[in-house]
Amino acid sequence: MTDISALKANLDGIKVEDDPRIVRKKSRDFFWYSPILKEQLDAVTGDLLVSPKNVDEVIRVLKVCYAADIPVTARGAGTGNYGQAMPLSGGVVLDLSEMDAVKDIKPSVVVTEPGAVMADIDAQTIPRTGHALRIHPSTYRIATIGGFLAGGAAGVGSVNWGGLRDLGNVIRLRMVTMEAEPQVLELTGSDVQKAIHAYGTTGIITEIEVPLTEAYDWIDVLVGFDDFINAIRFSEELANMDGLLTKNIATIEAPLPHDYFLRHKKFIRKEQSVVVLMVAAFAMGALDGLLSRSPGAEMLYRSDSATAEDITHLPPAYELTWNHTTLRGLSVDPSITYLQVRYPDVKPLETIGKLQSIFAEELPGHLEFIRYNGGLVPIGLPIVRFTDKTRLDEIIKRHEALGCTIFNPHRYTLEEGGMKQIDPVLLAFKRQTDPKGLLNPGKMIAWEHPDYKFDSDQGFLFPGLQRS
Ligand code: FAD
Repeated sequence: MTDISALKANLDGIKVEDDPRIVRKKSRDFFWYSPILKEQLDAVTGDLLVSPKNVDEVIRVLKVCYAADIPVTARGAGTGNYGQAMPLSGGVVLDLSEMDAVKDIKPSVVVTEPGAVMADIDAQTIPRTGHALRIHPSTYRIATIGGFLAGGAAGVGSVNWGGLRDLGNVIRLRMVTMEAEPQVLELTGSDVQKAIHAYGTTGIITEIEVPLTEAYDWIDVLVGFDDFINAIRFSEELANMDGLLTKNIATIEAPLPHDYFLRHKKFIRKEQSVVVLMVAAFAMGALDGLLSRSPGAEMLYRSDSATAEDITHLPPAYELTWNHTTLRGLSVDPSITYLQVRYPDVKPLETIGKLQSIFAEELPGHLEFIRYNGGLVPIGLPIVRFTDKTRLDEIIKRHEALGCTIFNPHRYTLEEGGMKQIDPVLLAFKRQTDPKGLLNPGKMIAWEHPDYKFDSDQGFLFPGLQRS
């Protein structure tokens, strides 16, 4: 049991909050996307919310908590989908959102504090350098860059730049360790992977350096198709067109776009599958050319010819994609959930077609095109019309039998979700940076159960460091 009064006294001068309602609110994320996690994690809460303003305060908090054996779980904006930022063992919720400075802007690189919101970073870099972040989640307008690096995977821009798993997308991280005397470490090169998608279990990120890419004028586009497979073929062809610059290509099966995209509904017929695009303004003529030779393609909406009212009231196209598609679905039908699927490298469209005929309306399709291991692939975020856990497990098994890898969004540990492979290199690093295992406890099975045996064939999105 955490002695809150003693802890508060030891943190004197640092902003803390112990109102149980506020602490509980700040102990939650978007775990409720999953009916399984909703049941498992609903009661989780921390004991104290602590909001440091600078690295010295972070060091002080970690030192005090280390001495008193108090767990510390980092939090950015709390938009993770798998309970990443939820303090399973209580203790301190370390809110990094007030450390939000953009510290340095170079022509193609930005240095920030972890709590900087990604849209706010671009709002500073674009006017000064004409450059913007390479990749951001669809939660661009609210999520922090520290939370994205420690808890996210890929997103808008991944069609050009791959994901956080790809070396080069993060240049440097500064991190504070959880020791008697916390140290400040600099991670560069492939070492950044020791903190990326590690849910803050190996240290608290306090400074981030990432590369930027040229910022273009992006046009939001919706293209309709009466046939989902034609929509996928169009998306795939567009993704592979080397000269036609896009920032995001999402393919969403009917009737989801009509039923879920409430503010865009007026443009979409119920039977239309929709490809949601961000296209460079100068490439719109080329897109028209592609549309004119794509069977069944119908231009439904383009922001460069939208009315002033639509420009003001419609959400940006990226907020129809990635996990915003699921969020919009949940607001219409709270009983749905979703999966995350990597299709086989060979003939993925064939597998997608087979899955469609097996599951039909139970699993309406949602694909995002990304660069993966050097090629362009569709990854799946299908909506699942959820009935029960047994059926969900069956659906997963049918996918696996067809050669798909599931990155299971219904698990809160790093390993079970198939997201991050924990290997001896990472465990040795954690022994150094968090010897008592106080950082976000319960999220790394290999730490708590070193003998836990994983299926050796399991694919991981972030492979072990020994192999990378
Ligand atoms: P949080 O949820 O607060 O934290 C995420 C993880 O990082 C937690 O484990 C936390 O402990 C850890 N953490 C936070 N800050 C630090 C720090 N300074 N040091 C160490 N650890 C830290 N994800 C994607 O990858 N791509 C998407 O396109 C995407 N779309 C989404 C759409 C919706 C509608 C929703 C709800 C979620 C989506 N997500 C997506 C998940 C999530 O929004 C992103 O990963 C987001 O970047 C997380 O940032 P955050 O600030 O909310 O982090």
